[in-house]
This record gives sequence, C-alpha cells and structure tokens, in this order.
Amino acid sequence: MASYRVPYSVLCKTFELCENTTKRLEITEYLVSLFVQVIELTPEGLVELLYMCINKLCPDYEGLELGIGESLLMKAIAQSTGRDMKQLKLDYTKCGDLGTVAKNSKSSQRTLFKPKALTVPHVFSTLKDVAQITGQSAQSRKIDKIKGLLVACQENEAKYLIRQLEGKLRIGLAEQTVLSALATSVVLTKDSGKLSKQQKEHDLAIAADTVKSVYNQMPCYDMLVPALLKYPLNQLQEKCTMRPGIPLKPMLAHPTKSLTDVLDRFEGHTFTCEFKYDGERAQIHRLPDGSTMIYSRNSENMSVRYPDVMQKLNKWLKPTTTSFILDCEAVAWDREQKCILPFQVLSTRKRKDVKEEDIKVQVAIFAFDCLYLNGEPLLRKPLQYRREKLREAFTETENEFFYARHMDSNNIEDIQTFLDVSITSNCEGLMVKSYDGEEASYEPSKRSRNWLKVKKDYLGGVGDSMDLVVIGAFYGRGKRTSVYGAFLLACYDPDTEEYQTICKLGTGFSEENLQQLHDSLKDHIIEKPKRFYCLGENPVKPDVWFEPVQVWEVKCADLSVSPRYMAAVGQVDPSKGISLRFPRFIRIRDDKEPEDATSSEQVGSVSF
Ligand code: ATP
Repeated sequence: MASYRVPYSVLCKTFELCENTTKRLEITEYLVSLFVQVIELTPEGLVELLYMCINKLCPDYEGLELGIGESLLMKAIAQSTGRDMKQLKLDYTKCGDLGTVAKNSKSSQRTLFKPKALTVPHVFSTLKDVAQITGQSAQSRKIDKIKGLLVACQENEAKYLIRQLEGKLRIGLAEQTVLSALATSVVLTKDSGKLSKQQKEHDLAIAADTVKSVYNQMPCYDMLVPALLKYPLNQLQEKCTMRPGIPLKPMLAHPTKSLTDVLDRFEGHTFTCEFKYDGERAQIHRLPDGSTMIYSRNSENMSVRYPDVMQKLNKWLKPTTTSFILDCEAVAWDREQKCILPFQVLSTRKRKDVKEEDIKVQVAIFAFDCLYLNGEPLLRKPLQYRREKLREAFTETENEFFYARHMDSNNIEDIQTFLDVSITSNCEGLMVKSYDGEEASYEPSKRSRNWLKVKKDYLGGVGDSMDLVVIGAFYGRGKRTSVYGAFLLACYDPDTEEYQTICKLGTGFSEENLQQLHDSLKDHIIEKPKRFYCLGENPVKPDVWFEPVQVWEVKCADLSVSPRYMAAVGQVDPSKGISLRFPRFIRIRDDKEPEDATSSEQVGSVSF
C-alpha cells in the first residue's frame, strides 16, 4: 500500500483557520489537531509539514530560501490562469495580496477536469526545486514549476502557495507557537489517557519548555523531530545535544542607560565587565574531523567571507583542542599600530567572493565565550567556567586572536574607568555579564537580563540605537533630485507580523550613501503599501513604497507620542504611536533580517 501523504488542502485549511483568529491559544489548537493526525498517520511526513508551517525549506544555516519576486509570480499566475497581466496588476493594486489575487483568478477560471490533489510532500519538494534553480533561463524554469503547482490548486490553495513562494505566510504563525504545538502533540500521542487534568497541564508546560530549549541549542527539525518521536521527553536533552556544525542563535543583551542601572540589576550577584567590540558577531565551529565554519548572528554560513580567519585558526589552538564552538566578534584591525579600527572600516571589506590575497582590511578575532569544547556542551555552565575553558583551549596570538578584555570589580569608579578605556580603544562600550551561578549560563536566542550592554552614547540619553526597516521614500530636492532625499521607517511587531511606522529620516547620509541606497532600493519598489504595514488613520505618505528588505541602524535624540506614526501603538496610547525625534542614519545592518528589527515592545519599553 502506498504510504499516506498529507493533502496540501488539509494544511491550507489549517492556515485559513489560523489566519482568521488572533488568539494564540486557538492557533496552537489548530496546529495540534493537524500535528496529532500526522504523527498518527504518517510520522515520517512531520518534518516537511513543520517546515511548511514556518515557511522554510531547511535549517537557516543551509541558506536555501524562498522569496520569489512579485513580477515573476504574476507572470506564473497570468500564464496558468490565462488572465491578462494588466488586469492582474489592477487587482493586485486593489487588494494588496498576491495570494488572494491568485486564488480569485483561479476561481474565475473554468476547467474541464479536476486536477489531481496536491500533497504536502510534493509541494514542499517543488518549492525546494524552485529555490534551487539558478543559471540559464532560471526565470522561465521557475515559472514552469510554479505553473505546474498553480494549475493543480483548488479552493484556497493558490492563496497560500503564492504567499509561501513570496517567502512570508503572514498568518500569525510564529515559530515559538509551532514549537509549543509540536510539544503538545507529542505528549498527547504518547499519553496513556490516565493522567489528571492538572498533571497533563504540567506535563504540557514542561514539554513545551524542553522542546524550545532543545531547539535553541539544535535549531534543526531534521534532527529534533525523529528524536522527539523516538525517545521519552525527559531524554530529549541528552539524545539531541548541540554539536559543532549546527549554529545556535546567539544570546543577546539588554540595553541600560547608566552604570547605576547596571549595579542595581546585579546587586548581590557576581558579574564581570567586558569590552563591547564593534565589529561583526562570529560563531566559530570546529568539528572533530577538522572542518571549520564561521556563522553570522543570523546563522548564515560566512566561512567564505573570512578565508583569512579560516586559514589562521589552527595556530590559535592548544594541541588538546579538537572540537569547539566559540562566540566572538570579528573586528577590523591595524597590524602596524596594533589597534582596533572602527566598524566603518570593517564594513568596507568585501562580503562575497573574498580571496585571501586581495584582502585589504585585516580582522582580529576577540573571543568572549566558549559554548562547546572537546565533546562537552558548556551552555549550562556558568560564564566563569566557560571563560576558564576558553583560556585552556586557545592561545592569544598577536594581531590575530585575543580574549575579550575583562574586568571583575564591582566598584562604580573602576567600571567607569574601564568604560572610558573601552571607548578610547575604539570599542562601543561594555558588556556586563552575570558571572557565577545559574544565572550565568548561556541562553541561546534570548535577550537576557543576565547580559547588559552599556554604550557610551546611551548614557543619560534615549538608550540604544534602533534597527529599523525602510518601507518608503520621498524624492530628493535641490542637490538630491536624482536620489531619494528622505525615507519612511518602521519597527516590527512579531505578534501581529506588522511593520509600524516610526519616523521620517533624512539626516546622517553622505551623497555616496544616498546614491547607494537609491540603487539598492529601486528594485524593491511596490505599487502600494503592503497590507501588513501599519500606517494609522492620517499617515505620512511617501512618494514610493518598498518591500521590507533593508534594516538600518538609526539614532535619535528623543521620542514623542504622535498620531501620525504607529510604533508601539496601544502601549502608550490606544490610537497614537511613538515617533523618533531628530533621527539620524548610522549604517545598513546587513546582518539583520527585517524580522530582526527593533520590536514594538522594545520601542514601547524605552522610558520617557
Ligand atoms: P542585539 O544583538 O542586541 O540585537 P545589535 O545587533 O544592534 O543588538 P549591539 O547592540 O551592538 O548589537 O550589541 C550586541 C552585540 O555586541 C553582540 O551581538 C556582539 O556582536 C557584540 N559584542 C561585542 N563585544 C561583545 C562581548 N564582549 N560580549 C558579547 N557580545 C559582544
């Protein structure tokens, strides 16, 4: 008997249910009911189903992504439904969602035969094929594949298929919800049914925590799911452990505005201060077979960007060091003066096709954490222990590899002096970290209060700079007529999956910046704002709108409550948002995706 394959229509029905509610609990229930069925009928199909739910094709570090452009998708819709491109464009301008346009175009089309029903495995593997097509006539080959799926779509399938191809489902399915639902489903299918309600709730809560924590250490469904189905939950941690080759989502820090805030937070605890280096986060992995990888803050494999580091690494290891995961900052370095160079220098380094002999900007690696060493995961150990391990396993090497400078006094004057030294050494400030005990463990993917960042600029001011998404632009005047003169920026609300406007920005750019931004953004112009742009009732209207593709670091002098901007709406006022006063462009954040932008919650939590 052929094995059972989950119909795509079943998945799309679940998507529809999730899209029609905003209640996290209901969304979880819909997912659980789908996952339980799949675990019972075809457990081998669960991994693909999960990838479809989070709209990914593989773990982040493998780097295969969807994100097919609107014009290509419109061509595929036009060709598979026989509709006119002009008409399609008009429909799209009216409704703002290409998925809905595809669905409506299909339902107005008459067909003689009912096509064979799509299945989840078939759609998944075709999406993967589409993402992998490169080279000659890639466009038309992609269109053919997409058409093949579109003609077989029924009911609401075309809507979700197109959104999956665009790379964003936007139905409120956060990955954390998918993980909770997965944990619940596994408990329910393993449960003998004899447990009391209270005991069951307790088990479910523990299961969700366990699954999330294991996923944070091993963000790979292909490994997590089989282990989850095979072993009792209490063995999952030990059966599915972190390992070199699989990047963890890095631990993040909370901003603080003064050293007294820092002392208040850590009162009665041991803590340590480290220089906060201003470069690019690098997680360096060494496997027992000697292979090495360097991953970015976003788990992107950037080994080819740093051939120089890859080549020198062996020199820094003690002979006993066989495998490890290091958390570091790669910083631009002046070999003659033996000093750190500012971030701006690092940003001029090539990011693609880097050949070692052509490298002009040298980097030094500053290691601040060791997460795994010689087969031993260290996440749960306190920083004090991890730092010892780091020092046991590596050797500082002139001009190449250093331990992050640290200072362990809790006297405010000593900390102030250390902060001043960090600034004169071309660093951004300090990282202050819990040093001993349970609070000093490494918490992957968390913005934890066990790590505080103190930047020179935020002392006494508004706090951290913000990382915002550019969603629109205003044509320039005078000298700036051929480029954009100002931009509309937004923060991101992960709960509603919306971009909320926060300011108009026209300061801090060089002429060169403006030309470069114009060139890189003009390919992302869209005819009207996306339906997930939250603009308010009396919005600021830019001359052009963009897809959310770029994140910029922006500093500001102050914040104010405004009826024209929608950042953190509902947090400080039911209908008004927060806007930035005197915002200034600092840099493009290539290492952040639009969804990693400063969240509405972070904006709302900046005190006035
Ligand atoms: P976040 O990473 O908190 O979202 P961000 O990307 O804007 O914010 P920063 O606010 O500059 O980054 O602060 C955190 C970053 O500082 C880390 O991601 C890391 O790259 C860098 N860093 C430099 N020195 C250290 C250190 N000693 N310990 C930890 N991180 C450090």
